[in-house]
Amino acid sequence: MIYCKTDEEIELIRESCILVGKAHAEVAKLLKPGVNTKLLDETAEAFIRDNAAVPAFKGYRGFPWTLCVSVNSVVVHGFPSSKTELKEGDIISIDCGVQKNGWFGDSAYTYAIGEISAEKQRLLDVTVECLYKGIEQAVHGKRVGDIGWAVQEHAERNKYGVVRELVGHGVGKKLHEDPEVPNYGKKGNGPVLREGIVIAIEPMINMGKRNVVQENDGWTVKTEDGKPSAHFEHTVVVRKDKAEILTTFEFIEEVIGKKALI
Ligand code: MG
Ligand code: MG
Repeated sequence: MIYCKTDEEIELIRESCILVGKAHAEVAKLLKPGVNTKLLDETAEAFIRDNAAVPAFKGYRGFPWTLCVSVNSVVVHGFPSSKTELKEGDIISIDCGVQKNGWFGDSAYTYAIGEISAEKQRLLDVTVECLYKGIEQAVHGKRVGDIGWAVQEHAERNKYGVVRELVGHGVGKKLHEDPEVPNYGKKGNGPVLREGIVIAIEPMINMGKRNVVQENDGWTVKTEDGKPSAHFEHTVVVRKDKAEILTTFEFIEEVIGKKALI
């Protein structure tokens, strides 16, 4: 069942989405070589709870943490750990969700730790471009497959692999609602997008092949070939002429001092 949200409901989702953006910024302030990823998780959880909200991922199907932290070849769902210290040249995808007043917001951003290689920077740039190309398709009357097509076309044109096993999703009173929003697809296929549908668009793009493997913890997803992977995500609402982005990278970019999309 795909729900079109009312304006009042969208305002509540927006509130959760803005809080996600601010929680990201709190984490971004800590990102440097030597920091362990458990500290990131604790910081995000405290910030979310201080803002009268609940971490959306903690306890979701048994996931134990507030953040998914996915370093280098980890694609998504990595566990924070006091034993994982960030190193100069790493890239780290941080995925954060909150529930406030019963409504969810969900956003991911892949950060550079210090100076990263030109290869990794290009992966980040292309993945952000994939995200915004997907968002361009999230307009009334188009179909879910148009989003996936746009993401896939741009990623593969750049010789990157598009992860198939994990997809975007509807967002609302549940963290994951219909429709599924794959990062691959055919133009004109899939459910029709109507004004008021709220979805998370979240390309997961691999520098190498698209294949992934899951670790024994039941969560951590890595690239099979060990090459790096990037992940960016916005929660957006389908509108008549142009999607409206409810999450924001603005607070993150105030901290890191640059825009994701150059
Ligand atoms: Mg997410
Ligand atoms: Mg999501």
